[in-house]
Amino acid sequence: MKLFGSSGIRGITNQDVGVDLALKVGLALGRTCKTAVIGRDPRVAGEMIEHAIISGLSSAGCDAVRAGMISTPTLAYATRKFDCGVMVTASHNPSEYIGIKLWNPDGMAFDSAQQQGIEELVASEDFEPVPWNKIGTITQDDNTILQHSEMILGRMGCSTKRVVVDCGCGAGSTITPYVLRKMGCEVITLNSQPDGHFPARNPEPNDKNLWMLKKAVREFEADIGIAQDGDADRMMAVDENGIFITGDEMLAIFAKQECKKGATLVVPVDTSMIVDDAMPDSTIIRTRVGDVYVAEAIKQYGADLGGEPSGSWIFPDVSYCPDGIYASAKIVDMVSERRLSELRDELPHYPTKRGTVKCDTDKKAHVMDTIRKDLSAIGKVNDIDGVRVDLDDGWILVRPSGTEPKIRITAEAREGVDDIYAQAERLVNEALK
Ligand code: MG
Repeated sequence: MKLFGSSGIRGITNQDVGVDLALKVGLALGRTCKTAVIGRDPRVAGEMIEHAIISGLSSAGCDAVRAGMISTPTLAYATRKFDCGVMVTASHNPSEYIGIKLWNPDGMAFDSAQQQGIEELVASEDFEPVPWNKIGTITQDDNTILQHSEMILGRMGCSTKRVVVDCGCGAGSTITPYVLRKMGCEVITLNSQPDGHFPARNPEPNDKNLWMLKKAVREFEADIGIAQDGDADRMMAVDENGIFITGDEMLAIFAKQECKKGATLVVPVDTSMIVDDAMPDSTIIRTRVGDVYVAEAIKQYGADLGGEPSGSWIFPDVSYCPDGIYASAKIVDMVSERRLSELRDELPHYPTKRGTVKCDTDKKAHVMDTIRKDLSAIGKVNDIDGVRVDLDDGWILVRPSGTEPKIRITAEAREGVDDIYAQAERLVNEALK
């Protein structure tokens, strides 16, 4: 049984993830942890799942502390004082989804081995309920938001900028406007009342979903617009003209402003080479796609910064958990001196081309094997997630779709992107013959 995906346990409420599973996860976790802190985003099923997990933890003898409705980075920060942290969230997924994500005291999500340990216990139902007088206590801590805010504010300067904050009715509503106001900003809130129906917009903070934020920034003549996902680990921004800053641009801006010459950065394989060109003296490590893989590599290599263009920014001297509140404060701090559009405009921009080739699922492995050999002949290959080849003036990434009968091709080049894309497409079609 595979319970955990790249972002923990996640699925449709009461179909894939319900109280029975949550209880078992609590019972399993309580076997290895003596203390746990638990938080939830505003999803409708959040409290139901939280209660089931806490019952399991307590029954297994683990003391559980309820932190209430908080963001994922707030929970990850609170976990520093416990054996483990449990976040009930489905992140950026639509409102019918719910999930459970587990955290270590250093802010790192449970790794594959830890997840497997929980999976095996859940599958075997080898739980150890304790006698009545060893049952874990259940208490409340209402100070986690304040503590997380103070940690962030202690690392930021003052700012008098006008900021529009779109929390998407997610958990960021509980903290982000407060932190930015404390910095001195004039904060205009948008969709910053928690609501698990996510009535204002889809929780994913992408260009398409942020039309309201872009309009509000222009109409209020704000200096910057900030948007977060449902649990506020992800954060994206729009500039003072209401123009969306892409994830690759955000990554390059954070790297340029935050890192010294020669820094080590960690990014997923599909990240643009604008990051490489913005940081010419840096070592750039490319991982599988998924913020947990980025976080693991940051820890392994002792990297200075990492992130994923979907909106996860990891500042390892703060936490290995992507922190959308810290990142929001950071980008506002940065625009105190220079406009966000200026920071974006000084980055290089290269054309990218994306497409797919139809491929039956049973042929994918053969096609990828052939592509790996073909691409190795023309450049340096990274096959950690699909096959990426770096060429003199660009790169190609060929990855099988995880859910559809397709092979995905991405190409980016300083010039001639159509040619290198066509070359990759031809190789995939030949491998299919
Ligand atoms: Mg999230």
